[in-house]
Amino acid sequence: MTTTVLVSGATGFIAQHTIKLLLSKGYAVVGTVRTAAKGDHLIKLFANELFSYEIVPSLDAEGAFDDVLNKHSEITVFLHMASPVTFSADDIEAELLRPAVNGTVSALKAIQKYGPQIKHVVITSSYCAMVHPAQWQIPDLVVSEDSWSSISWEDSKENALFGYFGSKKFAEKAAWSFYEQEKPKYTLNMVNPVFVFGPQAFDSEIKDQLNHSVEVVNKLLSLEKDSEIPSDKGSFVDVRDVAKAHLAAFENGWTGKRLLMNSEDFSSPSLLAIFRESFDYLKESLPTAAVEPIEIAKVDNKKTRQDLGFSFLDLKTSIVDCVGQILNAKRK
Ligand code: NAP
Repeated sequence: MTTTVLVSGATGFIAQHTIKLLLSKGYAVVGTVRTAAKGDHLIKLFANELFSYEIVPSLDAEGAFDDVLNKHSEITVFLHMASPVTFSADDIEAELLRPAVNGTVSALKAIQKYGPQIKHVVITSSYCAMVHPAQWQIPDLVVSEDSWSSISWEDSKENALFGYFGSKKFAEKAAWSFYEQEKPKYTLNMVNPVFVFGPQAFDSEIKDQLNHSVEVVNKLLSLEKDSEIPSDKGSFVDVRDVAKAHLAAFENGWTGKRLLMNSEDFSSPSLLAIFRESFDYLKESLPTAAVEPIEIAKVDNKKTRQDLGFSFLDLKTSIVDCVGQILNAKRK
């Protein structure tokens, strides 16, 4: 019998890859989107009768997922991916904290009321739930599957970067508290990625501005020889590995895991060096900078790697696939 998976935030960068993978393995997918136009767009992209969509206009609305689960008693797996992903916001509580936390709690409450058949829940949390935004650059710090950010709700309102980190911590905390208190029968696992790079799931999704994390790569392509090089640095994982981790999280029947998805570190100079090595066309046009050691907290995800048992794509492969796709789209 076909297993039906709900994927919230189906328009998203990670969600599109995950849905593509689910469909390729014969799962049926109900994606939630904010508008019918976005849903219709996805119907065309996936072009697969196993994909359908439902509209959830606001994550922050009481009972946001009630109607979807009430209507779809065939759903047995819930992948909650929808959450605001931005480092700019005017009202941090309204734009970041509340939709992230309330959306997560609404998903779990909807399952309690309307989804007794649901067997597995996977939530896309983040590395940002595991480290304080003022501490991720401390080279002596080690962040692992057991780490938690110490940021408070109040401090999360200091700026949008803190707000995003706080939104992921408090959403994940809310999910684990609900799970401990209510003791539901389904398994619950988190996927906690660092910066996610890689190609879009469909070439046609390449736009001038891409999703927040890939924009770190994309914006380097518009630099000129004498441009100042952005100071971005961090840890990276490829989107295709993140998608695989979401499936592994429910297919293996695990519960209580936090899959810390990290491949290797990057900096703007290291990305520019890959561009130059791999694309002749970019050799002369971009600024150059020495690739210095990258000073940030160490990510220890031995447990996750052992659980997943597959090797993660490296930075070069991910960037070549991502930039190749962008350059092809620009040539068209
Ligand atoms: P994305 O492409 O921006 O996707 C975000 C998804 O969430 C979209 O479907 C978006 O809908 C939906 N969404 C955002 N705010 C919403 C709101 N207020 N109400 C309803 N839906 C909302 O980002 P992504 O990179 O794929 O991220 C997906 C998940 O992975 C998020 O939970 C994010 O925190 C997590 N994550 C991402 C990264 C990364 O580097 N990309 C790293 C760690 C964790 P619209 O299309 O309608 O805007």
